Amino acid sequence: GQCITHCPVGALRERDDTEKVWDALADEKKTVVVQVAPAVRTSWGEQTGLAPEDATIGKIMDALKRMGADYVFDTVFSADLTIMEEANEFVQRFTAGELKGHPMFTSCCPGWVRFIKSQYPHLVRYLSTAKSPQQMFGAVMKTYFAEKIGKKPEEIYTVSVMPCVAKKAEREQELFYEEYAGHDVDAVITTRELVKMMRSAHISPDTLEDIPGDSPMQEGTGAGVIFGVTGGVMEAALRTAYAIITGENPDADAFKAVRSPGFNANDGVAEAELTINGIKVRTAVVSGLGNTRTLLDRMEKGEVEYDFVEVMACPGGCVGGGGQPIHDGQELAFERGKQLYRLDKDYKVRFSHENPDILKLYDEYMGQPMSHKAHMLLHTEHECEVKSL
Ligand code: SF4
Repeated sequence: GQCITHCPVGALRERDDTEKVWDALADEKKTVVVQVAPAVRTSWGEQTGLAPEDATIGKIMDALKRMGADYVFDTVFSADLTIMEEANEFVQRFTAGELKGHPMFTSCCPGWVRFIKSQYPHLVRYLSTAKSPQQMFGAVMKTYFAEKIGKKPEEIYTVSVMPCVAKKAEREQELFYEEYAGHDVDAVITTRELVKMMRSAHISPDTLEDIPGDSPMQEGTGAGVIFGVTGGVMEAALRTAYAIITGENPDADAFKAVRSPGFNANDGVAEAELTINGIKVRTAVVSGLGNTRTLLDRMEKGEVEYDFVEVMACPGGCVGGGGQPIHDGQELAFERGKQLYRLDKDYKVRFSHENPDILKLYDEYMGQPMSHKAHMLLHTEHECEVKSL
């Protein structure tokens, strides 16, 4: 059968969720917990007049707290969590021969997931089952974090600030946990909506201060921050996959080859062949759905073969997302992407598997990557909805 996917409202007409978030912030019965995606820090300054080096994630956190958020977190934390699950899943599926001549595809971009379900439904089984960082964080907030602060999942209202309009549809993924039946994420606002909310709260950007995110999901790594740029998920996953296979860390920059040299339409694919402990891993990274179609068609014809493929629907990755400030698209995506690579270099820890707060989460709650609990909370089935016509 053919996949019939719903067209997310956001794809046709941008939905404004700021009122929904204001209502939650005003509701005393709700504990509002916000996460901010990596790409948002590269662009919100463009609309507020702050220079890129001054438009930090810490100031976004200050703004959110001033607007009434109870807790604020950086999605870089859950990007690390996604890497833990996805890298382990890749090593397992790859070494078990389960992929049988197909690559495992990344699954954290809802624009791509929708595309493969509608255009290449026979390849859906090769998507990673790992949820995206947005969804994983929502699940962790409503379970592990809720328990920590003595709340029930239904008392927690989860908000994401995303560079992406398609994340508003991804949010509809369900979460079932003990008696709770709801969603990982309750509301998604884009970078543009965040700036709009700051304006309506009369927050002047130059009064904002750098504040840290809350505990216990505070730490992030350089591997997590590059999720916002094409090639970043692959590079972060390879850093951890290498450690899983060999028992030791590679040089943090060992997999630079997967970075895209430029983000223009003809240059949307970066291929690399790596050898880890004698195991050959062939990777491809692609951004933009036109480039993706070309790549998939070449794969289908047997012209190219890969083991692991990262796909981002937006040219340049999430830095070029549809929820970002709009100017002249692609060149800005490239500049924003470079900012994330600079941030990666500045992180004390550059491997997801060495994030101390991630290690604590596994130790205290999830057990191991791919454990039963991790499967319940952090993975999803990508089912095609088959409808008879
Ligand atoms: Fe959203 Fe674009 Fe990022 Fe995909 S690449 S998650 S559609 S911003």
